[in-house]
Amino acid sequence: SDWASDSRLHTSSSTDGEDLHALAYRSKMMVASKPNGTSTSVQSLPENFYTSFLSDVAKARLPSPIRSLLPLEATPGIISLLAGKPNPTTFPFTSFDFTARAPPSEDGRTNSDDIALNISGGELAAALQYGATGGMAPLVDWFHGLQSTVHGRERGEGWTLSVGSGSQDLLSKAIIALLNPGDTVLVQSPVYAGVIPLFHSLRCEQIEVDADAEGISTVSLREILESWPAEKPKPRVLYTIPYGGNPTGATATLARRREVLQLAREHNFLIMEDDPYFYLFYGAGPREPSYFAMERADPSCAGHPVGRVLRFDSISKILSAGMRIGFASGPAPLLRAIDAHTATANLQPASLTQAIALKLLEAWGYDGFLRHTRGVSAFYRASRDVFEAALQRHLTGLVEWATPQSGLFFWFKLLLPGADGGDSAAIIRTEAFERGVLALPGTVFLPNGRTTAYVRASFSLLAPEEVDEAVKRLRDTILDVRAQ
Ligand code: PMP
Repeated sequence: SDWASDSRLHTSSSTDGEDLHALAYRSKMMVASKPNGTSTSVQSLPENFYTSFLSDVAKARLPSPIRSLLPLEATPGIISLLAGKPNPTTFPFTSFDFTARAPPSEDGRTNSDDIALNISGGELAAALQYGATGGMAPLVDWFHGLQSTVHGRERGEGWTLSVGSGSQDLLSKAIIALLNPGDTVLVQSPVYAGVIPLFHSLRCEQIEVDADAEGISTVSLREILESWPAEKPKPRVLYTIPYGGNPTGATATLARRREVLQLAREHNFLIMEDDPYFYLFYGAGPREPSYFAMERADPSCAGHPVGRVLRFDSISKILSAGMRIGFASGPAPLLRAIDAHTATANLQPASLTQAIALKLLEAWGYDGFLRHTRGVSAFYRASRDVFEAALQRHLTGLVEWATPQSGLFFWFKLLLPGADGGDSAAIIRTEAFERGVLALPGTVFLPNGRTTAYVRASFSLLAPEEVDEAVKRLRDTILDVRAQ
């Protein structure tokens, strides 16, 4: 059988609890099941392909004179007089002891015994010391293993991975590495409000690609690209959130993902796949592979070189947001540009939180990690259901919503009088706030600041009574506004 036309990744539609394990298994199978058991080498886009994608800033950035030599310290027999590393024996910390929850058992039951973890000796010295620009080597290794397990992407097949101080850190550096001031960029819309200021500060023209309950609209994307004026340079980057799009909660279908990849090849752009809600997926449908997995193994990409996807993962929603750890995976020249920025901006992500994450992840293993993420997604599915039940009780007929499939948010439209559907901004900022409920008006998620009747409500932290009360306050607000 021809591995490239293997459709196992797409035909099996496992749901809920098993989905990530099943996906991981299928991704592995896709890569492993090559004709007659022989190995097929991956054809990647050549390094010089990316020259036309890197911004002037990225091309002009000098390497850090010290950081670029640091790897040489590992040369056997070398005595390094290189770096200004403080002597860790002068640091006051002698050991870090902490406890963490054991991952849930295979059947999803909470494991009541905490596990005791300790960082001391050489690990402590590394945790307190300066470290590699793109992240601590054993943590980078662990994340490589995760990308192989979950996305079927093997190390050494023409891509690399860097850790950053949250995915936001890496996203902002990637945007600076890819876009020149004034460039156009394709942006899924509505979009994560945290990237709009990044595009804005570069004075980029944000071309909004519509999104609906099936994720990014390929009709919209195709139309934009096919009607692009001949004299204007085409956009080279698409920013998209494939799972549980913030703010909409929608997840892109497989057909949409395939078409986006095809359009990327046809119109020569790169895909920034920002996927912090990947592990939170709680939708009932099939779990779709990432763009990062698909460009390597989806039948629709067979015969095309790999290397159009720059993927962003985050541990913020699954291990801790305050640890500030995210990682980017993709073509080496792009990761080098990000690392070069890090080397002169914040030097590296914090060693200590990397050491803590590593301890935990090594203790859990990939299986434990995936079981934990299943527990987290089940938690948010239950929270989503509580919120949706409150919407049904109190806001039926007053708002419209689509059920989110991942993420922490409901995105709903206030049904207000007015020809253009109305504007939620003033109502949410003033009337709703005065009645004691705080939410975000949809306009902040629209790259070009259009008015909209949509609102984003986060349900991640509230107890059921608070949800009920918040939704009642919204109902009272809307009824008052409608009566005015
Ligand atoms: N991208 C999206 C879509 C997000 O929602 C967030 C967090 N709200 C981020 C990136 C940033 O996450 P991190 O904590 O990893 O920086």
